[in-house]
Amino acid sequence: MYRKVSVNVTAEESKPKLLPTKIYKCKDAECKAWVREEFAETNPACPICKGPMHRSMRHLPALQKKIKREPAKKSLF
Ligand SMILES: [Zn+2]
Repeated sequence: MYRKVSVNVTAEESKPKLLPTKIYKCKDAECKAWVREEFAETNPACPICKGPMHRSMRHLPALQKKIKREPAKKSLF
């Protein structure tokens, strides 16, 4: 007779992990806009004030992998 104790493990994994993530943020101190570097263009403009953005770091929850681009797919646009 044995009980499964996997509940503890699951609880542990459900904690949101914060990872240091590269972002771009607006240079304007009053503008709170920022975007993850992986979703941004090379020199992104602020989506709110259209001003320049600069690189920064931010602790963010890990992304779900499902949005990742699949390079192996053969699709020509
Ligand atoms: Zn801005």
